[in-house]
Amino acid sequence: MRLLVVEDEVDLLESLAQALREDGYAVDTADNGDDGYFKAKTWDYDAILLDWMLPRLNGIELLRRLRRDKKTPVLLLTAKDSVSDRVAGLDQGADDFLVKPFNLSELLARVRALIRRSTGNASNLIVIGSIEIDLASKTVMESGNAIELTAREYAMLELLAVHAGKLVSRTMIYNHIFDEQDDTLSNLVDVHISHLRKKLGRDLIETRRGQGYILNV
Ligand code: CA
Repeated sequence: MRLLVVEDEVDLLESLAQALREDGYAVDTADNGDDGYFKAKTWDYDAILLDWMLPRLNGIELLRRLRRDKKTPVLLLTAKDSVSDRVAGLDQGADDFLVKPFNLSELLARVRALIRRSTGNASNLIVIGSIEIDLASKTVMESGNAIELTAREYAMLELLAVHAGKLVSRTMIYNHIFDEQDDTLSNLVDVHISHLRKKLGRDLIETRRGQGYILNV
């Protein structure tokens, strides 16, 4: 899953991006509203963490413009704590609200909840045949046995699993698994898929040549 963090306090921006990457997300960053708006409009992020008070274009105005054509889930981060501020943020299209200073584990839980809702999954557990994927602990079990996956293998399996039974194009994989820091050769996707097949069974993931992949349900 790929996130955008828009935050002008550079220390907070960097520590948030690092924490989110350690939690397995691909993360793009912007330190002002103009850049944030450009990236938010250009890419299909799984969620956006958006600071309210930003230079050049504030978070609420960014959100208002973004909502003209994008439904990307947005978690608004702000020091503003009055009821009227919360109402204004939610009315402009924010999906959730977190007041600074916040606890990292709460932020991670809210991001998971946003993505879960937007992908139509009510729970953190996805079960496909003998395979169980826990989106909160990011662990995978196959017939009750824990399966060791690399962060990238997990990210790819999670993306295929939340769209189980549907075609996931290579473009979608690039847009949701890798971030602006990655300079990844295209054949790596095939390598990750081949590792997943070795670990979870050959029939789980079907290749549609020239189109992408489907996780069979
Ligand atoms: Ca700010």
